[in-house]
This record gives sequence, C-alpha cells and structure tokens, in this order.
Amino acid sequence: MSKYDIVIIGSGLGGLQCAYILGKKGYKVLLLERQVQPGGCMQSYKRHGEWLDTGMHYVGGLGEGNCLHSTFKYLGLTDLPWQHLDPTGFDRVTIGDRTFKYAQGHEAFVETLAREFPQERKGLESYAKTMKEVGNHLFDAIKPRDEVDFFTTSLFASSTYDYLHETFKDDLLINVLCGSSLKMELAKETLPLYNFAQANNSFVQGSYRLKGDGNLIVNKLLDSIRSFGGELICNAEVEELIEKEGRLVAARCSNGETYEGNIFISNAHPAVTCDLVKESTKLKKVYRNRIARLENTYGMYTVSVVLKPGQLKYFNWNQYIYKEPNVWDYYKADGPVSGILISCRVPESGDDARILDILTPLPWERIEQWSDTKVGHRGDDYRAMKERLAEECIALAETFIPGLHHMVEAHYSTTPLTYRDYTLTPNGSAYGVRKDYHNPMMTLLSAKTPIPNLYLTGQSLTLHGLLGVTMTSLFTVSEIIGKEEAWKITQTV
Ligand SMILES: Cc1cc2nc3c(=O)[nH]c(=O)nc-3n(C[C@H](O)[C@H](O)[C@H](O)COP(=O)(O)OP(=O)(O)OC[C@H]3O[C@@H](n4cnc5c(N)ncnc54)[C@H](O)[C@@H]3O)c2cc1C
Repeated sequence: MSKYDIVIIGSGLGGLQCAYILGKKGYKVLLLERQVQPGGCMQSYKRHGEWLDTGMHYVGGLGEGNCLHSTFKYLGLTDLPWQHLDPTGFDRVTIGDRTFKYAQGHEAFVETLAREFPQERKGLESYAKTMKEVGNHLFDAIKPRDEVDFFTTSLFASSTYDYLHETFKDDLLINVLCGSSLKMELAKETLPLYNFAQANNSFVQGSYRLKGDGNLIVNKLLDSIRSFGGELICNAEVEELIEKEGRLVAARCSNGETYEGNIFISNAHPAVTCDLVKESTKLKKVYRNRIARLENTYGMYTVSVVLKPGQLKYFNWNQYIYKEPNVWDYYKADGPVSGILISCRVPESGDDARILDILTPLPWERIEQWSDTKVGHRGDDYRAMKERLAEECIALAETFIPGLHHMVEAHYSTTPLTYRDYTLTPNGSAYGVRKDYHNPMMTLLSAKTPIPNLYLTGQSLTLHGLLGVTMTSLFTVSEIIGKEEAWKITQTV
C-alpha cells in the first residue's frame, strides 16, 4: 500500500485546485472521487451527441488585473478558450416588458443603469465603490503579516437586502441589481452583503464563458496534476476516514481499498465529511452538531435544450427573465416558473446556437417527496414534474426567443435530486452552506478542523462559484504551504 503526502476526498473544482497547487509544490497527491468521472459540479455529461453542462455557465474576474486573473494563470486556466461576453451588456435582466443591461467595468456599469435611473446615480456610484473595495480584498485572509480579521469584517455581518434598501429608493432598480443573482441564493433573511458584492464585482470586472463545456476546466487541471505526479481514482467513494492517536491515517473506500496519507483535505460537503470520521478523539460532539445544524442554499432545476440547426443565432450575454419585479421571492411561490436564466453555448463554428441552458431555482420542499428514490428510478410522476418545469421554462424563455419550442430538437433536465445523488450535497443544494449575516462566525467555515491533519475545502466554506471555490482553495492550501506561498499565487502576473 503506497502512502501519500496528501489525500483529497472529492474531485470538484476545490479538490482539483488544491491537488494542482500542492502537486506543483512537490507533494505526492491522491484524489479520491466517488463518481465515474471527476469534476463534481464542473463536469459535463453527454446526451444526443452533445456535452451538456451541470454547474458552469460563466465566470467573472478573469481579465488582466481582475481579481481571479493571477490565480487562474497560475492554474493554467487562462489558456482555455474563453469567450468574453458583450461588454455593453454581459447580463441582461428583463422584468415584465423592460430590459436592463449590466455593462462591463464599474464606470460603464454605473453609466448604463444611471441612464435608466438618473435619480439613483449617487447610489449606483456608492454600490460600485463597495463592489470594488470588496473585490480588492478577495484574498486578504491569506495576506502575510496582515491583521485583518476575515471572519468578522463588517460586510459579512451586513444584510444585502437592507443595504440595497438603504442605498436605493427605486424598487425596480433593486430588482434589476438583484436580477442576475439566481446564481446565488437571494434570501432576505440571510444573504450577507459580502457574498453579493464579491460575486457581482467579479462579473462587472469582466464576464466570460467557455467556448466548450465545463470538462475543459476539469481536464486541464487533471492533465497538470498528473504531470506533477498526482493520481486520481474514480469510483472510489470514501466511506471512512480512519483516525489513530488524534490524527487521520487512512481513507477507506468503496472499492475495497484503503489509502494512507499524511494530510487529508475534504472537498465533500462539511456535514458529509464529519460523518466519514466515525471514531475520533478530536471531532467532538459540539463541532459535529454545529456542522450538522448548518442550513443549505436552494438547489437548481436546469433544462438543457439542443436546438435544431439554423434556428437561432448565438447571443453573447446571459439573459435573465422575470415575469414580475419580485426577484427576492418569485422562487418561493407555487405557481408556474416565473424567473429564469438563459445561457447560450458558444457554437463550435459559425454563429448558429446549438445548446441553451435554462435555469431556475427549485426549493427542496417541491421535490422532497422523491427523496427516497435514486437516479433513473424515480417514477412517472417525477418525470412528469420535470417535463412540466421544462415546458414552463421554455414558455417563459419564449418571451425573449419567440417560437423557441418549435426549435427544440431534444431536451434534458436535472433537479437538485440529481446533484444530491451525484455529489452527495445535502438536499442537492446548488451553492452549499447558507451564509447568514446574523451569524457569520457560525456559517463561515475555516479550512481547519479539530483534527490537526484534516482540512476542508470547497464552496461551503466561504463563497460559492468558481470565484468562491478558488478563493477557498487558496485558504485551504495556505494552511499547508503557508500564507506567504499561497499569497504569491494570487499576485503573480
Ligand atoms: C446549476 C448550477 C449552475 C451553476 N452555475 C455556475 C456558474 O455559471 N458560474 C459559477 O462560477 N458557478 C456556478 N455554479 C456553482 C459551482 O458549480 C460550484 O460552486 C462549484 O463547482 C462547487 O465546487 P466544489 O469543489 O465546492 O464542490 P463539488 O462540485 O460539489 O464537488 C465535490 C466532489 O466531491 C465528491 N465527493 C463527495 N463525497 C465524496 C466521498 N465520500 N468520496 C469521494 N468523493 C466524494 C463529489 O462526487 C464531487 O465530485 C453553479 C452550480 C449549479 C448547481
């Protein structure tokens, strides 16, 4: 049995990034993945001869001088074929019969919206300043010799909803500014201003989608990890993390193998991780209970539509559509789907669109009745529910693409149950642990655990998405390679 320096549980983006950085630093790394293919929410799946995405539609902050640029460059990800979204309107939010554009660059962003809401110019300038400030401090928690207390910074303890209502008078503008935020959970009662401002800042800096599917990211990282001597084993669900004398010594897997290691990093959900440590002198009840009690964000329903050839031209932005100006609440209502994101895949050649993804939040309560079922065996009523949601999504998308349902060659959908069964994330939550501005100390998680050689990584710790997971990967590896070395990665040009 070979022994590894680092054993990583899960090959989602967080696990892959940690493996890349530590492999490059000379550690012998092993990634253990329960699924047949790596990538977690980054992976794509093949249907109808096309690769369809799960959790990757666009990312912000990749341009030179932007918040993710240096780190993505270090990870080799800036070499991928990125498509820069329309700088004059990378996100477009339609509410009722009016459409508003988000322009790239903080000044252009303010100017474009101030044209529609001239009386709110001051508020828009102040919001842009807040976004910039928070973006400038993305990696502060690993800044060497910096005394900033990351977990108690005031933006974590501020409410997004209250901030917006204190800054703006026009309710429609507030709806517009939040209209692109179904890529996070808009929850009045909990969403910290930090998460809202940090994510939006990166997209305003510059937004990009891949010319291809999410597997490009996974495969690029994996090729490098392997070139550094790292290994990936799929179909290897970790069933137990074995502790001896207060330290983890091995991971026992579903494939019958046990892998020894010096350091363990878990990319699995923190609650799943705690359950893996069955016997421990370090992981006390109080920590286990704290983690078990954490709530999770909502899950997403996605219908991926394969279009007949020659029907629709590619559009280089994300289109958000809401029937009503109620972007904080629409997903809680029982009626037909009333808020969606449409993302168009960059065509391999020419300018005809081939794949559209339409996304809408799907709270757990609406699918809980099938929670005891498994992929492919959920029954006719579940299939009917998925089909009804697909029809409702396509019907709402038709307000932007007239006649869309005639253009559909095939469609495939996923629900939070799909994510739960593939990634083991509780309730198929799209963005992991829900952060709560009332209680940042409880809902923001450190990479460190009470077991000295077990660390956590991934979207549940601080912030989700490619931005949040990348930030968190740096926090996790800084516990192993030190802040100085981790900080350098975020600063190299
Ligand atoms: C529908 C949807 C759309 C999204 N769109 C975007 C977007 O456009 N832009 C963006 O930036 N973000 C987007 N996101 C969010 C983004 O996909 C996630 O934040 C990110 O991929 C999460 O990565 P992760 O490493 O934290 O975890 P995950 O991707 O959940 O990976 C965890 C991995 O651990 C494995 N695992 C779990 N338990 C075990 C075990 N016991 N043994 C072995 N392996 C295990 C899982 O199989 C999985 O591979 C989207 C998410 C969803 C759901």
